[in-house]
Amino acid sequence: MARYIFITGGVVSSLGKGLMAASLAALLQARGYKVRIRKFDPYLNVDPGTMSPYQHGEVYVTDDGAETDLDLGHYERFTGVSARQSDNVTSGRVYQDIITRERRGDYLGATVQVIPHVTDEIKAFALADTDDLDFVLCEIGGTVGDIESLPFMEAIRQLRNELEPFQTLSVHVTLVPYIAAAGELKTKPTQHSVRELASLGIKPDVLLCRSEHEIPLGERRKIANFCNVRIESVIPALDAPSIYSVPLQYHQEGLDSEVLRGFGITDAPEPDLSRWDDVTDRYFNPEGEVTIGVVGKYVGLQDAYKSLNEALVHGGLANRVKVNIQWIDAEVFEQEDADITAQLEPLHGILVPGGFGERGSEGKIASVRFARERGVPFFGICLGMQMACVESARLAGHTSASSTEFGETDEPVVGIITEWMTEEGLQEREAGGDLGGTMRLGAYDAKLSANSHVSTIYGGATEISERHRHRYEVNGAYKDALEETGLIFSGMSPDGLLPEIVERPDHPWFVGVQFHPELKSRPFEPHPLFDGFISAALTQSRLV
Ligand code: GLN
Repeated sequence: MARYIFITGGVVSSLGKGLMAASLAALLQARGYKVRIRKFDPYLNVDPGTMSPYQHGEVYVTDDGAETDLDLGHYERFTGVSARQSDNVTSGRVYQDIITRERRGDYLGATVQVIPHVTDEIKAFALADTDDLDFVLCEIGGTVGDIESLPFMEAIRQLRNELEPFQTLSVHVTLVPYIAAAGELKTKPTQHSVRELASLGIKPDVLLCRSEHEIPLGERRKIANFCNVRIESVIPALDAPSIYSVPLQYHQEGLDSEVLRGFGITDAPEPDLSRWDDVTDRYFNPEGEVTIGVVGKYVGLQDAYKSLNEALVHGGLANRVKVNIQWIDAEVFEQEDADITAQLEPLHGILVPGGFGERGSEGKIASVRFARERGVPFFGICLGMQMACVESARLAGHTSASSTEFGETDEPVVGIITEWMTEEGLQEREAGGDLGGTMRLGAYDAKLSANSHVSTIYGGATEISERHRHRYEVNGAYKDALEETGLIFSGMSPDGLLPEIVERPDHPWFVGVQFHPELKSRPFEPHPLFDGFISAALTQSRLV
């Protein structure tokens, strides 16, 4: 029987609920339990796929092709459990499903209402496909009191009555701010937030109190009294020096024991936290450092490249080095007086990440050229690989080489494909169709050339599966021209039609991939491409 932990947030947003959920799941997993984490997003977009990275941060893509909230990336990285489409639902999707059914006449003349139809849909989502699990953690996006999240709160309230006693638990994440002028920690916002939650019929069992300062016993007692919880259930959650310290820190504060106690579980095995000890040891005791330049478009907001940032850190953990990331706005290289050499020369590796649209593309192409000519380790991801191919095509004499994503071109080195085969059959897209949910999304296999550099990086494998999120492809018609410049197509889709990986055997480390390897990297299993890239950067750091 699966047990359910509902995680809500109060006082302010950005308290790190996602990380908290991931850390709690990791602690339960360390005790041998099978866990899964789900995210409920109260906004009306059907999924975050069409939202700007500036609004919403990165769009995290699952193996089964869902475009989801970036918190699912935290969940995967902390638990190693691959997220699925069914692990993220938005109000938009709930309403879309209900309205589709209503138009079909499925409600047989009934009035369709928030209670019970919307709440039933939310409950069904929480309960679906959980038979083989010990714990399901459900994180509700937003802050208690938001109008948008009311149906989700109501669904939780109902579930707490409908499921067995000791089968559900409510964890509320709040803020205990420090008022410098008074020199005091303030518990009132927490009291108000818990009252708000109680007014919705949910009494929290555990309070996780984010704070910049130690919360003394007196304050904890006060919170316990006013908020109607045991004092042991008031868990301080102080700012951590690294996200990797969070599970260990919460364990020390007793979070997992208190959660288990809330379920009436007294005979849980002690957690095996050795892999967290190892990760934190590597993170806090590096034996060197490298500096990587990420030349992209959304560099002002690091959440836009969340998984990439993490995967680079994982590459550092694998090599026991600290990775300094320099976020470089590609557009800067398009200005007339730009001194590309001065900016890129000190770097030990250059990475051009995924992205959309023309803005900054010439700057990215210029960075590829610098890395190629100067023998600096280069890693191109998705749009980054496409730009590497455009750069090589120009080298081959196709001077107007471009991508049709940026407008009409007579040299479409990167272009849209409207048909491709998958196991499910022919997939078709209209060139001018909807933007939502119409990309090549999710896990696709690729075949690697034996003896290629990437095959070595993948430990000798010749078949891999990686996650995709793109609308355009490198045009196979340019393969010969590009290979003549030394850019080898070392990974292709299994039918041999779509280029998946390019590399330059005559270069210390030059790899472009059409997929997003950063989505599958985990601190305990750094992705081989990031491991290899950081290792090459380390070699480069000894040269410059
Ligand atoms: N904009 C490019 C495409 O749609 C690349 C996408 C990406 O980098 N994720 O193909």
